[in-house]
Amino acid sequence: MSEWGHDFRPAYRKLSRWIERIPRVPRVALTATADPDTRREIVDCLRLRSARRFVTGFDRPNIRLRVDRKTNGMRQLLHFLERRPDDESGIVYRLTRTGVESTAVRLAAEGYDVLPYHAGLSAGRRRATEGRFLRGEARLVVATVAFGMGIDKPDVRFVYHVDPPRSLEAYIQETGRAGRDGRPARAVLTIGAADVRRLRRWVDGGRDPNRRRVGRRKLEALLEYCETTRCRRQVVREYFGEDRGEPCGDCDLCRPAGPLHRAATAIRRGAVAIGRRGERLRPSGLPGRSPPEPVFRESDRRLYEKLRAKRTELARAWGLAPFMVLSDHTLLEMALRRPGDPTEIERVHGVGRTKRERYGEELLGVIRKFER
Ligand SMILES: [Zn+2]
Repeated sequence: MSEWGHDFRPAYRKLSRWIERIPRVPRVALTATADPDTRREIVDCLRLRSARRFVTGFDRPNIRLRVDRKTNGMRQLLHFLERRPDDESGIVYRLTRTGVESTAVRLAAEGYDVLPYHAGLSAGRRRATEGRFLRGEARLVVATVAFGMGIDKPDVRFVYHVDPPRSLEAYIQETGRAGRDGRPARAVLTIGAADVRRLRRWVDGGRDPNRRRVGRRKLEALLEYCETTRCRRQVVREYFGEDRGEPCGDCDLCRPAGPLHRAATAIRRGAVAIGRRGERLRPSGLPGRSPPEPVFRESDRRLYEKLRAKRTELARAWGLAPFMVLSDHTLLEMALRRPGDPTEIERVHGVGRTKRERYGEELLGVIRKFER
């Protein structure tokens, strides 16, 4: 239905003509994952304006979300699989047919019970693969996005994307094939700089300016999901127009060993060390006792999010990309150190004089208001 689907669903667009011809036919539109814009488009296209809408939650709390920077896609996949129980079913997504073939060959060589699946295989072979996977005769399927429509297997324990999809909708739809039985499942995505370049090229290469615009928006949402430093589930909820809710406590960024906590811990350690060396305000620890382990508190996270919101505002005002205003790392450090005046804010890594002069007062305002 959506602008996004013109290529592979041209028949949908003809629907509006049919609706004009037979206006009194009852109509219902169903969609697996659609952001608010796409939903509006469906309503317009099918002239359903006065119809009732039913939106169930997109949230699948039993699926643990994780994104890793791709360094060596194959090695990272093997590392993941080694740690999974032998009898777990999973789907591995790759972008291309050759990617599917080479990954399946490699996994088979490592002793995994695996089948490839892509549109280049015969219909008979694809059906056979689906059947074997559904019956649990093959543990893993390595597939392009051609795999999955109508696959309703309750006990898929993980969906692993070696290559990122083009939109967050696609990603959520594909990962939604995991954990339908409600038991714990995992969704892992690896993404590298080359993937981002490829996706951007693909989006910018479109002829139709409208499609380019939509494509960019969808890609940015996917990248926001990948690059965020707050709860991934909150990013998903917000994107689909739901209440953001509380951090899930379960995704890679929420969990105590997650990257945000590690960054926070490193900054705190640095801050503690500077304080001890430079100012000697506190008695240095008793002999033989290490300083207390720094903790990343919930209030730090809340302040951090407020600073990020301010950065978005500043970026808009200055006509810059948010990362050009200040990096996530700088904002995180600000949330942890909580500078109280211009001199202190200038000392935060990544600020400096120019940025202090441009943004300092506004950021200090956010911190003061938060601490009140
Ligand atoms: Zn989370």
